[in-house]
Amino acid sequence: MTQLTRKFWGWGYEEVKLPEAHLQKFTQLLQLTLGIKQFETIAPPSLESLNLRVPRFALPAELQPICSSSPYDRASHSFGKSYRDIWRGLYGQFDNPPDYVAFPSTEDQIQQILAFAQAEKIAVIPFGGGSSVVGGVEPTQHRRYKGVISLDMKNFNQMLAIDKLSRTAHIQAGMYGPAIETALKKEGLTLRHYPQSFEFSTLGGWIVTRSGGHFATLFTHIEEFVEAIRVVTPQGIMETRRLPGSGAGPSEERLLAGSEGIFGVVTAAWVRVQDLPQYKATTTVKFKKFSEAVEAALQIAQSGLHPSNARLVDPLEAFGNGLGDGTHTVIILGFESAHFPVEDNLQKALSICKVLGGVFEANQPTPEKTQPDESADAWKKSFLLAPYLRDEMMQRGIIVETFETAITWDKFEVFHQGVNQAVKKAIQQHCGAGSITCRFTHLYPDGPAPYYTVFAKGEKGKELAQWDAIKAAASQAIVALGGTITHHHAVGKDHQPYYAQQQSALFGQILTSVKQSLDPAWILNPDVLINIPPQVQ
Ligand SMILES: Cc1cc2nc3c(=O)[nH]c(=O)nc-3n(C[C@H](O)[C@H](O)[C@H](O)COP(=O)(O)OP(=O)(O)OC[C@H]3O[C@@H](n4cnc5c(N)ncnc54)[C@H](O)[C@@H]3O)c2cc1C
Repeated sequence: MTQLTRKFWGWGYEEVKLPEAHLQKFTQLLQLTLGIKQFETIAPPSLESLNLRVPRFALPAELQPICSSSPYDRASHSFGKSYRDIWRGLYGQFDNPPDYVAFPSTEDQIQQILAFAQAEKIAVIPFGGGSSVVGGVEPTQHRRYKGVISLDMKNFNQMLAIDKLSRTAHIQAGMYGPAIETALKKEGLTLRHYPQSFEFSTLGGWIVTRSGGHFATLFTHIEEFVEAIRVVTPQGIMETRRLPGSGAGPSEERLLAGSEGIFGVVTAAWVRVQDLPQYKATTTVKFKKFSEAVEAALQIAQSGLHPSNARLVDPLEAFGNGLGDGTHTVIILGFESAHFPVEDNLQKALSICKVLGGVFEANQPTPEKTQPDESADAWKKSFLLAPYLRDEMMQRGIIVETFETAITWDKFEVFHQGVNQAVKKAIQQHCGAGSITCRFTHLYPDGPAPYYTVFAKGEKGKELAQWDAIKAAASQAIVALGGTITHHHAVGKDHQPYYAQQQSALFGQILTSVKQSLDPAWILNPDVLINIPPQVQ
């Protein structure tokens, strides 16, 4: 098989090209909606042109064989994959690369790296797939550190054991999504956790960011599947007990899930897996009014039917993704099960939609155990190509980024209006032209997880400042209107000030105390999740 090369500045592989028709459709759509006559394209920099800062410290002999200072490794560990990251990559702004990238294969090697970093005041940034969109893998600029090591977990890539009786798997933290599923599939099993970044993200990254898979109800966040975790901290190894459930005090696993690399490096986890689904049924339902679709989503979420997919997509976003002509809000409905036919459940969900004005075509839903219907399939393709498309749009100077949240149903209407108003105002003020679209990625009985996409006209060289202004307006509105700064993208550096606002003051103190006891030298992922307190600086 040909070896593919990951882009050091953007999403995915260099060699993967978008289908021309897909690209053309979006370029035309943007030209039309943003009033752009001609795109001026920005070419990504060459690796040779980067001129990276020389490493600021020397490595001890024992770490040299597992560390790299190659321009490719350092550049590709300088950023995650948010708009902010890719923009800086595209413009060649690699001002703060890690000094070295370490590729340990054993826990002893991780401990050696941490010991060296503690002694020398060097920051260590755990790195999974590098798909963070919140500044989670970006080296700190804090002046208390002599330098930065990015600690890439890619050699922790083994399926260690499968316990078929308990239906659990012991998986190393650096294993990527596709490798996990390939190994489990051989046993008729699946972890069934598919974030959009699945191809380029790892189990360890998912756990510490509390990632959300693409199934709409029931088990959406990875921590629901985590049975036990093993972590190397600067104070030693912490391993939690394998248990199906426990009422013994606060949960250790839950403290580590969401810790974003600031307490330790996750090396492996036992996760709950499932039998491969055999029965599937999918269909799409159209609604004239957004509010009717929202009501249908609410009723489905509270019906106990637990669809695997119940993605509400607003008209403009639906159009962009091949789901109609842009005049209707769409709900993509899907059910699946390893053990039981799901047709009945789909019919029950459709009857909820019908009462609320939902329309679905006569030849839908698709029969059991067949391919998904065409519209739902178009959505899936579009979903997976979206990150590649974003790189292409950015090269044409378009500001394109997403943000996400969750809110209870009682507040949704006011919240949604408020967020839209704030973002539209910021787009108008900073870009002149642009739009915001919405979909629900997850549904809970008590509220949806709205996911917003912004497209706006960028001014060459100023696009990042323009986006930062829009993002600030969105984040302020989200927190002020009672939402969470993130439903699944995590906190990182970018959301840290807003996370501090939404959490209780005492919880902030608790996090700082845990950090202090596990990482007293504050070497792990500084500035992420919590601020370095003044007494440490
Ligand atoms: C196009 C795109 C689509 C996305 N879609 C989704 C989605 O559907 N759902 C979702 O939840 N998120 C999504 N994300 C965000 C991102 O993919 C998730 O946060 C993911 O869980 C990160 O995993 P990773 O392995 O890439 O971790 P990284 O990006 O490498 O790291 C993320 C954080 O975890 C820490 N970390 C990584 N590995 C370890 C470890 N072994 N031990 C300790 N700390 C570690 C890092 O220091 C960092 O703070 C998306 C991102 C992109 C770019």
